[in-house]
Amino acid sequence: MNPRVERLRAELDGLGAASFLVTNPVNVEYLTGFASSNAFVLVNHKRVVLLTDGRYIEAAGAVEGVEVVQLDRNLARALAPRLGDLAEAPVALEAEHVTLVIQEHLRLSGVELLPTTGVILGLRAVKEPAELETIRRAARILSDVYERLASETVVGRTERELAWWFEQAVHGEGAHDVAFPTIVAGGPNAALPHHHADDRRIEAGDAVLVDAGARLDGYCSDCTRTFATGPLPEELRRAYSTCRAAQEAALAAVVVDADTEGLDAIAAREVSEGGFEVKHGLGHGVGLEVHELPVLRPEAEGSLVAGNVVTIEPGIYLPGIGGVRIEDLVIVTDNGPEVLTSFTKELLTLE
Ligand code: ZN
Ligand code: ZN
Repeated sequence: MNPRVERLRAELDGLGAASFLVTNPVNVEYLTGFASSNAFVLVNHKRVVLLTDGRYIEAAGAVEGVEVVQLDRNLARALAPRLGDLAEAPVALEAEHVTLVIQEHLRLSGVELLPTTGVILGLRAVKEPAELETIRRAARILSDVYERLASETVVGRTERELAWWFEQAVHGEGAHDVAFPTIVAGGPNAALPHHHADDRRIEAGDAVLVDAGARLDGYCSDCTRTFATGPLPEELRRAYSTCRAAQEAALAAVVVDADTEGLDAIAAREVSEGGFEVKHGLGHGVGLEVHELPVLRPEAEGSLVAGNVVTIEPGIYLPGIGGVRIEDLVIVTDNGPEVLTSFTKELLTLE
């Protein structure tokens, strides 16, 4: 018995659905362990049917606990005439992922379709022990690479060079990939929350923001630290201590039943009271994707449960001067927050 499929089955009645057609490839992989660019999975109370095209049939045959049905490469078009036989209506769909093209094909089946949102994302938000262990290892890789970065010379190197150095080190520590392109933002570039590493050379007296992720066995980690390369302007030093205080206050409140909007507000209040502007939400869930549920920002209703993995990452951005962001990855446990990114949050000065 596949516990993830059982958790999805337990949702069906509440949704008013008899079957669930999963089309998002990340969710197909989550439910069946089958990774491909073209597969759907159909779940009802009795069957789990994996639908894919001829290129993947051999690999699909190795998946346990599923019936495999081969379809033409346009899965939605090929499935439509057979949907009524394979699934009981109503058939729940993933509205965030079903395109108009897929919808048009499925509509021709004549089977009642039921758009749903966030159902499997909701299951994914609560991690199993093995998933948590993989994420712990992916986070440890980042902590080790930040440790190595602290003894690197950075002044005079471009952001791109440093991002490449970081990514190689992530691979060198055993990651299978990076979780997203490494962000290195120095000086005024650090004032842009979503800056991409460019050809600017790091200068003495910059704040240098490094936001990076490692991927291991499909699971992501995510961590940000901000360094100095010499004495920083007073306003940036104050931004650093305010950001750190905001981060640590929110981090301490990462407990079971904590309100997601309320957590965001804890950090936002610290930042505002420090006289700075809040420019983005506090954090996000991390798992098979680097941004998943739960979301920690204003108007994100919900509360944390044991097994959630979230980032806590307030930032302060001073246009033309620089910026600070401090991000930890943390597991919500019955015993409080388990912080996975252990590298120091003291303001370090690199040469
Ligand atoms: Zn990050
Ligand atoms: Zn993040």
